[in-house]
Amino acid sequence: MVIVERDNKKIKICNQILRTICKHIQLQSSDSEAGGIIVGRENRGNNNVVLEYSTEPMKNDVRTRTRYLRKDSGHVEYYKQLYNENNGIYAYYGEWHTHPEDKPCYSLTDLVNWKKIARGDPKGIQYHIIAGRKYLTIWKMKKGYLMPDKICEVKWDEVFL
Ligand SMILES: [Zn+2]
Repeated sequence: MVIVERDNKKIKICNQILRTICKHIQLQSSDSEAGGIIVGRENRGNNNVVLEYSTEPMKNDVRTRTRYLRKDSGHVEYYKQLYNENNGIYAYYGEWHTHPEDKPCYSLTDLVNWKKIARGDPKGIQYHIIAGRKYLTIWKMKKGYLMPDKICEVKWDEVFL
């Protein structure tokens, strides 16, 4: 899936990330929230971004019907390993998690968390994904901006077209 931003910058989200997230959509009333991190790289030359890898819920994460807390250190370790094995071309690009609603909106908790991440990330830009039951929505968080910018909202049926 490719998102074209207003300034013609392209964000490519590889199918392996979308397939991972899709597996965790909360279709059953007993399904807990799931989440992980997104790892990607910037294309040299044109500044386009390729989001390529993601993690899945791990043992020490906190998961309830309406909450996901990424507590397991395995997420960051996964990123560090990718970084080290590829001469530092990969960077942390954001978080994904599921919501038990059709069309996801970020919660106040999400906003506080995304702002905290923005303050600590020298790269200055993150892409956060929330997977609802019917829609997948992506927000861009940019250094110096108070609110995230919704850059994509797509029905799950159309994600893999
Ligand atoms: Zn949330």
